[in-house]
Amino acid sequence: MSENRQRPQLSRRALLTTGSLLAGAALVGLERPTRANAWPAGWPPDASDYAAVDRVAPPGFVQPFTAPIPRISSPYRSYRTCQCSNPHVGTDYNYDGIRGREFYSIGPGRVVAKGDASAMGYYIGIDHGDGVFSRYLHMDVPSALNIGDSVAAGTLIGYVGSRGAGAAHLHLEVCVNNGTQYQSPEVWLSNSPAVGEPAPTPVAERSFSINTAGTLEGKESALAPVVPLRENIAAVSADGLTVAAVDIWGGAWVLRGGFDTGWVGLASNAQDVAVDGDRFVVLHKDGNVMAKDGLFSSTWVPQIGGVSQIDAANGRIGVVAGGLLKVKEGTLFAEWTNQYGGVTDFALHGNRIGVVSGGAAYVKEGNLFDGWVPMAGAQRIELTSDRVGLLNGSSLDIKAGNLFEGWENVAPSASDFALSGNRIAVRSGGSVVVKTGALNAGWNGYFANSVKIALN
Ligand SMILES: [Zn+2]
Repeated sequence: MSENRQRPQLSRRALLTTGSLLAGAALVGLERPTRANAWPAGWPPDASDYAAVDRVAPPGFVQPFTAPIPRISSPYRSYRTCQCSNPHVGTDYNYDGIRGREFYSIGPGRVVAKGDASAMGYYIGIDHGDGVFSRYLHMDVPSALNIGDSVAAGTLIGYVGSRGAGAAHLHLEVCVNNGTQYQSPEVWLSNSPAVGEPAPTPVAERSFSINTAGTLEGKESALAPVVPLRENIAAVSADGLTVAAVDIWGGAWVLRGGFDTGWVGLASNAQDVAVDGDRFVVLHKDGNVMAKDGLFSSTWVPQIGGVSQIDAANGRIGVVAGGLLKVKEGTLFAEWTNQYGGVTDFALHGNRIGVVSGGAAYVKEGNLFDGWVPMAGAQRIELTSDRVGLLNGSSLDIKAGNLFEGWENVAPSASDFALSGNRIAVRSGGSVVVKTGALNAGWNGYFANSVKIALN
């Protein structure tokens, strides 16, 4: 049941080998998928495709089981004790007695692969369209489905078995971007219901506050209740369905999925954390920055030392070291570029970088080497893809649209603020209010006794 009782399963390289097995003897007596109609080209992806992919399934996808969903015994990208250099490219569902349980297609589509292979057992691959594929391993008997069959979300694929594995479990893989990138199945299905259950309300617009007692509180929407999430918290960062928090002892923690999901330990001796999709950047108390791609990856990549401030967004990481803003984009091993000196605050969003230096704000848009556009006086800056927010004294001014639009005063007495999409959160004293939509929309009360705020 635990992964280390299984035979070494599929490393990326082993999957590639399996791919060639597919064209050979392993499919005796089975429909043999050909390269043309079976796997999408490039699936399994190669090593370079391990970039942060953290998408969530559109409405219409479901869990591979009816309720209750079996526990996840080995999450995506967890490391196997037996093959510790190889990430786990799928999600394993397992409990004592799971053998023979029905499992189902996670979405509508067409069967594009069916076979049997040494480390996979009987398996099925489904093309869901839009470049999304799923694959189901370890059946003891072949699925009744055949290549070319259409399936709906919730169509029976087969029964959980142990063929090609040490213990009975379902190994589910999800690939996106036309099958060129693995993606966490847990994240993909994090907002999808069990087969036969109604779809939950989408989790989209989360707001967070740390209160004066150190409690991290979250709120899913304007109408949702305030939910206490964790005690003794000093810093918070949120992106999509992921929230990361640093406690007063330096422990960094991650909660992914619903607010009732368990926290996962990320790092110790931390003073700040930034989340960008499946990427985690930690500023340690000694000023060193470490980053990793994948919550369960054990590969921390040292970034840089002497750092006082971090941010991460849309594949970029920014740090302030000795007052100098440095930004890299792409892999964790990319080169740093020097951006601006004397920086006291900065923000990253999409292809925008904003800095505050010498009491004034500047923003650049485009590649890392584009020019800076002067904004106005400020002490704090926040960005979205089409808004720039500046806090100057207690006055919050926002410009919407391009970098040359005019400013609108949105709040006259703000002590801090946050921007995300078309949302604006303002802390005024200890009260946090949020507006959604136009700059002149009305405010909704969100949190009390707040000392820090964040939006996902
Ligand atoms: Zn597995």
